[in-house]
Amino acid sequence: MQGKILIVDDSVTNRIVLKVKLSSAYYDTRQVRSAAEALAAVRGGLPDLVVVGTDLPDADAVALVAALREVPGADQLPILVLAPAGARALQLAAIAAGADDCLLRPVPDSLLLARVRSLLRAGGTAGEYALPGRAQDLDQLAEPGAAYLPPARIALVAGRPETAVRWRVGLMGEMAERVEIMTREEALAAAPVPEVDLFIIAAEPGPAAGPEGGPAAGLQLMCDLRCRPATRGAAMCIALEHDDLALAVGALDLGADDLLRGPFDAHEAALRARAMIRRKHAADRRRKALRRGLEMALTDPLTGLHNRRHALPALAAMLERVPRGAGCAVMVIDIDRFKSVNDRFGHAAGDQVLIEVARRLGRDCTGADLLARIGGEEFLLALPDVDLQEARARADRVLRAVEAEPIALPGGAGSLRVTVSIGLALSGPADPPVEEGRIRALIDRADRALMVAKGGGRNRVTLSRSAA
Ligand code: GH3
Ligand code: MG
Ligand code: MG
Repeated sequence: MQGKILIVDDSVTNRIVLKVKLSSAYYDTRQVRSAAEALAAVRGGLPDLVVVGTDLPDADAVALVAALREVPGADQLPILVLAPAGARALQLAAIAAGADDCLLRPVPDSLLLARVRSLLRAGGTAGEYALPGRAQDLDQLAEPGAAYLPPARIALVAGRPETAVRWRVGLMGEMAERVEIMTREEALAAAPVPEVDLFIIAAEPGPAAGPEGGPAAGLQLMCDLRCRPATRGAAMCIALEHDDLALAVGALDLGADDLLRGPFDAHEAALRARAMIRRKHAADRRRKALRRGLEMALTDPLTGLHNRRHALPALAAMLERVPRGAGCAVMVIDIDRFKSVNDRFGHAAGDQVLIEVARRLGRDCTGADLLARIGGEEFLLALPDVDLQEARARADRVLRAVEAEPIALPGGAGSLRVTVSIGLALSGPADPPVEEGRIRALIDRADRALMVAKGGGRNRVTLSRSAA
């Protein structure tokens, strides 16, 4: 089954009709009769979508929507309300309470299923970007300012300028966001900063029908905007002032986040716009948190260098990239007698030394080099496409850069001169292929060379014998 849908309706007929329609599209439905049962079901395990009817015995649909939003983890749960014909006030109240949409009955099957598809898709994307529970807590701790948001930027694109002007005047009477009118060309050229948060696009092209026109020009524009890095994250709303079922269904299936159907109603448009912007900002936050989480997983928090988890695959990628016949140099760099730094000056001083050594190692690095902290006081530096002479010269520079200046210790505890020992190995044509342990073999060679450097008195570079 491709989506678990919870149907909440007190009317047996409504429940059955809906179940039949959704089951025929191979959704997995569960039906409950009341708000209390719905809340219990959602608390027991989030479905992929909740469809709420309006005749509930114990609460009105609006109150249920608000209560559902409060269930832990349900802030992004897609909720669709089906309201009786003509129930405009209820429709707007349901959206204001947090429903993703509220459709007035009778809802054509094609529209209902397109809306269900679009909500399941949006919910699925939100789920993919969600961090696992504990990581989410960490993220919220890490970014206390996440609640602040600059005013959103809304772009209106309509074929006829007077249409866009009418929308703008209406919207600006309802909301404080930045609302601007764009031509199709301006929308396509929209700069990434500040990012447009929401496009409201007329499905109709206006008077200039031609190769660029046709009734689906607005949908085409939406698809084009979705392909561009600068606009792909924006929420998309298609306005169908002449409501057209096929266009509405098409817009949803092409990825519209919402529709404005019928004559432009500024109050409804503002409500829906606010909801779309809220969801878009939540998606932005999730994406950012995920990216930050990934970065954190690959970064050493003390020195800011890559960690071992990043270093090994990055080294494999470097070896794959260098031209055939060219070599890579791998250095394992270990601070000499580091334990005694901790023992004599304390752990904080040791940390300071690690930070400063990392900084000195990085000073000479280009974007092509790989520098990582792969152990407590051990670093890996890999250089692509270098020969033995270049590698040696670079290793000598590293030695000098570390020992040249004493490192200031925290708390005015004076300063300390430290040295490093370096084991150097070069990859060569005799190495095994990457998939047969080439990385491990190369690092092992550098490690063995490092031990020789330590045994030989430290503060020196030793070349792995097999690379000589
Ligand atoms: P050698 O010259 O042979 O490399 O001697 P060493 O003292 O540097 O090597 P050893 O492996 O005996 O000690 C490494 C020390 O590094 C032990 C450990 O407590 C310390 N260490 C590891 N990670 C950290 C860290 O993040 N901060 C601090 N302050 N110390 C660390
Ligand atoms: Mg050491
Ligand atoms: Mg060590």
